Amino acid sequence: MPNDEIFRCSDGHLYTATWVKASLLSLHLGFGRHIQRCPVDHHWRTASRVNVNELTDEQVAEARQHKF
Ligand SMILES: [Zn+2]
Repeated sequence: MPNDEIFRCSDGHLYTATWVKASLLSLHLGFGRHIQRCPVDHHWRTASRVNVNELTDEQVAEARQHKF
């Protein structure tokens, strides 16, 4: 899924979202941060995009279980 981006909410939850969907359903704050409804706890949170290379395999697997 090359179009998926991994995001981390301000509570530390990891999830994946397609860039297009994330852009449409979020409020942009600039600097790669925006407000999005976290699919893990369903709260509106500040989320920022995470570089996949900075995550462990476990974290990537965790993020893939939660689709925005
Ligand atoms: Zn969350």
